[in-house]
Amino acid sequence: MADFVGDSLELARAAAGATADTIVFCGVHFMAETAKILNPSRRVLLPDLRAGCTLADSASAEALEARKRELRSVYPDLAVVTYVNTTAAVKAASDACCTSANAVKVVEALPSEHILFVPDENLAGYVQSQTKKTVIAWDGNCYVHHQIRPEEIERIRRALPHVKVLVHPECREDVRSIADAVLSTSGMGRYAKASESTEFLVVTECGLSDRLFLEAPEKRFYKACKLCQFMKMITLEATRDALRDGQYEITLPEPVRLGAERALRRMFELTA
Ligand code: SF4
Repeated sequence: MADFVGDSLELARAAAGATADTIVFCGVHFMAETAKILNPSRRVLLPDLRAGCTLADSASAEALEARKRELRSVYPDLAVVTYVNTTAAVKAASDACCTSANAVKVVEALPSEHILFVPDENLAGYVQSQTKKTVIAWDGNCYVHHQIRPEEIERIRRALPHVKVLVHPECREDVRSIADAVLSTSGMGRYAKASESTEFLVVTECGLSDRLFLEAPEKRFYKACKLCQFMKMITLEATRDALRDGQYEITLPEPVRLGAERALRRMFELTA
């Protein structure tokens, strides 16, 4: 029933260009905020306000400002890159945003040699493995990806030795290190379509891997069976109620929105 289906980068672009009066965002809170940041004249609705995110909750703007001050006394050139899975206030306190698909590109494109990467420690570790710059990780993670252990992957590999293992960079390093490829959700779709292999183990949140079934129906995808309780709070009934009753509207103080928009637009510029 959606007009757009995509990962966070694709949805941010779709929200920025949306011409409808109202955008109903069937995702979690920070995603709906991103739509409001990029398209403030539209009414943005989130069907269920309980749809939060443990990763976004692991960084506050106040804690980020304190850490920036501390690190800039040692590294004056420090730049702050925030993953889109953050609140608008944290985005506003950063130099540029990124998604899992473009995190390495954003870090490489910034003029600074020292990067504070907020809030996912696992994605920060992945970026560090791909760049010569110094990446300082925030102490946060996504509870869905962080719980996945290498033993689970090895067990499935023994049962299905021919599957290609595709791992999201929000997973721990010991899981990433046994992957055939470390990819964002959109990257997984492109990889599976281009690959000669026909069977894949998709190591990320199960709802994200469902998208791959729709995009490449000729291939077979095995799921990691890890569900995000927050994403699953957005139901068909809650979406109907949101459309019928105009609830729940996302609003942001204008200075915060403007600061977050600057960081998001910097991401678009750096990756254009
Ligand atoms: S899977 Fe859930 S907890 Fe993890 S980053 Fe996404 S919304 Fe947040």
